[in-house]
Amino acid sequence: MSNRSEIPVRTRYAPSPTGPQHIGGIRSALFGWLFARHHGGQFILRIEDTDQKRSVPGSLERILESFEWLGMDIDEGPQVGGDYGPYIQSERLELYQTWAKRLVEQGTAYKCFATTEDLAEMRASGGGYDRRYRDISAEQADRLEAQGKPYVIRFKMPLSGQTTGVDMIRGEVVFENAQLQDAVLLKSDGFPTYHLAHIVDDYHMKISHVTRAVEWLPSFPLHIQIWEALGWEKPQFTHLPVLLNPNGKGKLSKRKQQFAADGKSVPVLAHEFIAAGYLPEAVMNFLTNIGWNFGDNREVFTTQEAIERFQLEDVNPANSAYPIAKLDWLNSQYIQDAAVDDLARRLKPVLEAAGYAVDDDLLRRVVPLLQVRLKTLNDVVAMAGFFFADWQAFEAPPSEVLIQRKMDSAAAATVLSGAIPVLQRLDDFGSETQHSVMAAYAKDIGYKNGQVFGSLRAAVTGQRVSPPTFETMEILGRTESIRRIELALQALKERA
Ligand code: GLU
Repeated sequence: MSNRSEIPVRTRYAPSPTGPQHIGGIRSALFGWLFARHHGGQFILRIEDTDQKRSVPGSLERILESFEWLGMDIDEGPQVGGDYGPYIQSERLELYQTWAKRLVEQGTAYKCFATTEDLAEMRASGGGYDRRYRDISAEQADRLEAQGKPYVIRFKMPLSGQTTGVDMIRGEVVFENAQLQDAVLLKSDGFPTYHLAHIVDDYHMKISHVTRAVEWLPSFPLHIQIWEALGWEKPQFTHLPVLLNPNGKGKLSKRKQQFAADGKSVPVLAHEFIAAGYLPEAVMNFLTNIGWNFGDNREVFTTQEAIERFQLEDVNPANSAYPIAKLDWLNSQYIQDAAVDDLARRLKPVLEAAGYAVDDDLLRRVVPLLQVRLKTLNDVVAMAGFFFADWQAFEAPPSEVLIQRKMDSAAAATVLSGAIPVLQRLDDFGSETQHSVMAAYAKDIGYKNGQVFGSLRAAVTGQRVSPPTFETMEILGRTESIRRIELALQALKERA
């Protein structure tokens, strides 16, 4: 249990609705979610839309879709509801205004009337905000306000001394107060900044553990000071490591497309994982493995198993390079282990999207041939789309596909034409029988198995890469297989 076991565990994910979800954000959310689930607590989604200029319509829907796809259920949040709502910050403005005012009244925050031009001048002369309104009297402030001068509310950060924060994975972190500015809490339009809004919300939403990206660590002393000024008991904090680009340099960016060693583009946005044909279970496993270890040298585990073991304290504080190569491997493990019907259900829409009309019985027969061969669901199209194409419309592939290594057109024709009567004579067209008889045939005619099997594969599938030749021929059936071999022979003759 948590070291404050009397307090129910409540964690939150608090994204700004600025467009598609970056996988780094999802990974931060995941750690908060796993922790809440481990402790039987609640996981809350809160939308931080106080920077209205950056808000992108439709972001919430995309966030919810990603969570649903991954199987990360939300206990409270927009569209879900809950006792501590609303869960969208722009609907809570009065609350932030009340607390900002309270801080001004108690003297830990102040109204600042510096204009945009004033601030630009301060920046031009090389400094930050020079605190010029920090110590004006209440009367002066009232007078300026009465004149209709716009103002922001700033926090009075202590000018000296140190602030010590405790982070669950970083331990005590000590900051020099003099390094910090008097941050804005409330803007002149009445909207709060992140600094004020998230604290007011974390308090009112009874968040027990704040988990957020390490980018917020420099603001940690400011946040501690604000919590203390408000006189509220602080939650526990974890500043989570972030994902770096695959080469280990710089934060994983969604703007620059990254390329993996095999030239495929690297998915970074949540919906790109769906589009690329990854299974949600594999993506969950993949993300859980970054910066956290299941232990026992196990890399493949279910979400439920991760929940049982997950502790925030075990998260490695170091940022990690995005181990994208692992994802294909993990995904292929999940594909191999999936039940045939389950995998068929997931492959069907991919084939349909590629324009194939999918017969369910045929798909169920094909799936076992694919399980050890697919890295992603999308691979099914190139690997096995031919099964679902119109068989009557099948055409022999180009000669360079038909002709195998160290063979010429005549040799390919000899191999294929000799194979037809052998295949016709088989009592049983099962793949094992075909295999042994064709191996014997290869020996008889003085060719390697690879040359004979490859010629047949090319003839019946039209491709160089496919599921195993004889399993494929078994599914196509004897008549169709032989018809295709004859088409190949004809093509070789016409093109010779
Ligand atoms: N809205 C903030 C962000 O997107 C939330 C940070 C936090 O979790 O406190 O970075």
